[in-house]
Amino acid sequence: LPMERSLRANIEKLELALIKAKRAESMANYANQAKSEFLASMSHELRTPMNGIFGMIELALDKPKRAPYFLQKAKGAGNQLLVLINDLLDLSKIESGKLAIDKVTFNLLQLIDDIAAVQEVHARNKQLKFTYNRLTALPDFINSDPVRVGQILNNLLSNAIKFTRHGEVTLEVGIFIKEQTHHLQFTVKDTGIGIEHTKLKKVFERFTQSDQSSHREFGGTGLGLAISKQLCELLGGDISVSSKVGKGSEFVAVLPIEIVKTPVASEKVKRA
Ligand code: ADP
Repeated sequence: LPMERSLRANIEKLELALIKAKRAESMANYANQAKSEFLASMSHELRTPMNGIFGMIELALDKPKRAPYFLQKAKGAGNQLLVLINDLLDLSKIESGKLAIDKVTFNLLQLIDDIAAVQEVHARNKQLKFTYNRLTALPDFINSDPVRVGQILNNLLSNAIKFTRHGEVTLEVGIFIKEQTHHLQFTVKDTGIGIEHTKLKKVFERFTQSDQSSHREFGGTGLGLAISKQLCELLGGDISVSSKVGKGSEFVAVLPIEIVKTPVASEKVKRA
């Protein structure tokens, strides 16, 4: 009997180990599948602007009179490529813990107004209404990393515009005090395709695109939100999402900031 008991205990242990191994295997499979999907979409994303650059250069050579127009288009495709490569570099730096946050004093109002103005053009090009509301007064000068703050806001706005076929994209910005610290809050709302409930948490994981077929329609690599989330966390804040399929999505980023009353002349003041 004691032998039977110990045998049973061993069998239970083995069964448990088997369940764990199976779980690990399915997680590895999931990671492998995500990686293959990533490689496939990344190759596509790299090839599209490359084709654009070569195609436009050929056209410029072929029709020298219209060269400035074609070269302008080639430049646009080159920029698209650069953004993609920068995303990859950022992600690899974040993953190896080497991404440095570069805090300086900069003009917040100016940064957000400029980004809103550029994104409004993109929204209008898609016949979308674009609304930009300031919920509170925005301070002129704050201490944070303007490049990274801008990157997060641009990512949320460009996703909202990309995944919305008709309707409206809204940006709300405000400063709130939480735990005696000023926090900058961006809310980006859209009336787009929305995200399935089960996929909501995954959108912040790298390489995740909630749907491969939508990926083909909309383009992208599934890196933007992973980078934005990590950047928010590096800045001491966070990002969250709520969404309804077919109705739209709402992303909220909250970042602690330090308001600078009057920037000292010797301080590094940067206009982003
Ligand atoms: P990408 O846009 O390059 O695919 P992101 O990391 O920015 O990558 O977004 C990941 C996925 O989250 C997108 O592929 C899309 O499925 C989903 N998503 C992000 N923003 C939105 C949005 N505003 N509306 C609907 N789906 C979104």
